[in-house]
Amino acid sequence: MEPSPRTIIIGGGIGGLALAQGLRQAGFGDVVVHERDRSPVGRMQGYRLRISPEGERALRACLPRRAQDLLVATSNARRQEGLVAYDEQLVKAWAPEFSDPRGDDPDKVDAVDRVTLRRVLLAGLGDAVRWGSRFTHYEEVDGKVVAHFAGGHRDTGDLLIAADGANSQVRAQLRPDDRHHDLGVRAILTRTPRATAIGAGIPDVLRDQFVNVTAPDGVRLAWMPMVFRTPPREAAARLWPGLEFDDTGDYYMSVFSVHQDHLGLTDDAFFAMSGAELCRLVLDKTAGWHPDLRNVFAHAQPEETYPLALRATMPVEAWPAGPVIPLGDAAHTMPPTGGVGANTALRDAAGLCRALTAAFRGERSLVDAVTAYQREMVGYATEAIDMSLRIAKWSMKKIDVNETEHSTTPAQ
Ligand SMILES: Cc1cc2nc3c(=O)[nH]c(=O)nc-3n(C[C@H](O)[C@H](O)[C@H](O)COP(=O)(O)OP(=O)(O)OC[C@H]3O[C@@H](n4cnc5c(N)ncnc54)[C@H](O)[C@@H]3O)c2cc1C
Repeated sequence: MEPSPRTIIIGGGIGGLALAQGLRQAGFGDVVVHERDRSPVGRMQGYRLRISPEGERALRACLPRRAQDLLVATSNARRQEGLVAYDEQLVKAWAPEFSDPRGDDPDKVDAVDRVTLRRVLLAGLGDAVRWGSRFTHYEEVDGKVVAHFAGGHRDTGDLLIAADGANSQVRAQLRPDDRHHDLGVRAILTRTPRATAIGAGIPDVLRDQFVNVTAPDGVRLAWMPMVFRTPPREAAARLWPGLEFDDTGDYYMSVFSVHQDHLGLTDDAFFAMSGAELCRLVLDKTAGWHPDLRNVFAHAQPEETYPLALRATMPVEAWPAGPVIPLGDAAHTMPPTGGVGANTALRDAAGLCRALTAAFRGERSLVDAVTAYQREMVGYATEAIDMSLRIAKWSMKKIDVNETEHSTTPAQ
């Protein structure tokens, strides 16, 4: 067998690290991940992530057994299935029927803490991950790809994987005309420690379930618990001694979203707000809501509160089938409403891993393998974006997907 291609992955987020794990498992000896963050906790990355059946399957396909055990041990303790919708006075609107093919499997992973997932994805990768390495551009020279990084260092490989997220720099170079569609929705993401929320008298309906609150004016709050089966540090000490995990406690993640028209603020003003100002803005916008809802928001952590714009890639398109290959949000950004962006990135990682393995083993050409991977990816990522947009549209009662054709923000 030929030596495995030197594979340079730009971005040590969810998709990039899952691919690195998968390629390692498949026998690729020369895989390197360049990540701009200085450490695994180097920046706000979000909090709780829903893991779908497809996402769990992809994670398990990429991870070695011990890391899978760590994943299960640190995942959300399932207390109640599904989502329940309320109005802003906490009157129950409906509870959709969910059918999960995983049934009641006690090892089912249906939600994780994002930083803990990153720790799991890093397990065993060691110095294959280069922290503080910010990609700037690449060039193709004599059949190789040379990646350049801030500070002047470079790395040469056979393949360059663009796993650098929604504002992909690789994509900006290869596809400079691509634009994300701005959905006109602005969101505020925050978290509240579970012990604080319970101490503040959180009502039972908000305690153990994923709750979606929609007010008549389309202002929306999604509220979801993250209760670790085992505290991450304890799980790591038991299952993989020596791994560094964080001392993270249980919490609620909440995402407050509002159409720009209701916000009454320019983007410059909104994105310049501090966490404390964002928390106050939520309290202002929910003035007539049930006091129990406002009370829990009053206990959100200002230092863990961030503004977001909801964007989507439309349409999702394949990139030229060459040595520069897209993965995850770099190829298909979507709003968090469907809870599928990370799951789609994981699916990409598992699919690309299979494709590259087949090419490496000589079962098909690299161009064929990458073309097939992208064809499949375009299909399921388009479905994921459509579903996320439908949910965003339904819950905000305001978004006209066709109107967003005229409202774009550059992919940077
Ligand atoms: C509030 C919120 C909630 C969400 N909830 C869910 C959910 O429940 N379920 C779900 O499936 N999805 C969810 N998503 C979507 C999910 O977060 C993304 O789809 C997912 O992170 C994409 O993975 P990725 O690997 O493509 O990109 P990322 O995870 O964003 O990773 C990209 C990495 O590239 C690095 N990088 C960027 N530029 C450079 C550079 N120039 N050089 C080097 N490194 C670089 C970044 O630092 C980052 O680590 C949510 C998103 C948000 C905002």
